[in-house]
Amino acid sequence: MTRKKEDTILLDHGSGGRASHDLVKKVFLPQLGNAFLDTLEDSTVFEIGGHKLAFSTDSYTVDPIFFPGGDIGSLAVHGTVNDVTMRGAPPLYLSVGFIIEEGFPISDLERIIRSMKEAAQGAGVQIIAGDTKVVNRGAADKIFINTAGVGVIRDNVDISGRNAKVGDTVIVNGTIGDHGVTILSMREGLSFEVPIESDSAPLNGLVADMLAVSDKIHAMRDPTRGGLATTLNEIALQSNVGIELVESRLPFREGVEGACELLGLDPLYLANEGKLVAFVAPEDGEKILACMKAHPYGRDAAIIGTVVPENRGRVFLKTVIGGTRILDMLAGEQLPRIC
Ligand code: MG
Repeated sequence: MTRKKEDTILLDHGSGGRASHDLVKKVFLPQLGNAFLDTLEDSTVFEIGGHKLAFSTDSYTVDPIFFPGGDIGSLAVHGTVNDVTMRGAPPLYLSVGFIIEEGFPISDLERIIRSMKEAAQGAGVQIIAGDTKVVNRGAADKIFINTAGVGVIRDNVDISGRNAKVGDTVIVNGTIGDHGVTILSMREGLSFEVPIESDSAPLNGLVADMLAVSDKIHAMRDPTRGGLATTLNEIALQSNVGIELVESRLPFREGVEGACELLGLDPLYLANEGKLVAFVAPEDGEKILACMKAHPYGRDAAIIGTVVPENRGRVFLKTVIGGTRILDMLAGEQLPRIC
């Protein structure tokens, strides 16, 4: 029997964009869906013994496994720490699972494990469960890592992709597209005058500071695969609001826009691994921004837009030249194995 292309998994299905969302809705949720999974949040919130917990899992397949600013090990810790953090839960414990290709150098594995240890220490979390599988040469590419994480949420915190409100101020904690550009430049063998490195970082300390100055943070999400544009589309849909971004306010690290032009990429669709976008009550916007700027992972924070009542479920960009551009979810795959 021959299968049509649309009956098989394509790289697009792992992009984090439109095709990933369709796959989840058409294949996963009809069988596995429940009140928790259906929320499609960065982590699921549930209660045990009167405590609210946030729980998340993520797999890492990045190629190359070592890159400026991190490696697959630190990424696997930061990514899950950040997904738990995006619900306002300080992450506590992680599990880790390795799938390793036969022939993989033990020295590289040791380097990755050291990096995971340092990343966990940096984030103040402990890895408390693990598993290792080895597959035949060619059955996996070098090493894949899965992590899961859990944290406890304070009673009065309710942060969700469904909670963005008309009038909210939209804040990002720093420059856009650094991780995606770093990975692709390495693959293409490009180097730049100003070196670019991944922004991979744990965001729990920054978010703890934000929560200490405001109880009006409504929604947060980390714009990883699919980039800022896809993440904002998810929030616009889940909260049923319109989002208006101001292009001139978007922060970029020196060299990133130029590199994107050279590589034919749009930085708004590139993965970030140490970034969050927060939707906050307008009266607290400046206060939260100032608090973010005082943190090492928020130095380049900026207010980049507003939540509007028009065009619900959509994201618009006010361009530098005075026009308006619809920002859709990522369609197609710019960059497989970015994280
Ligand atoms: Mg996330």
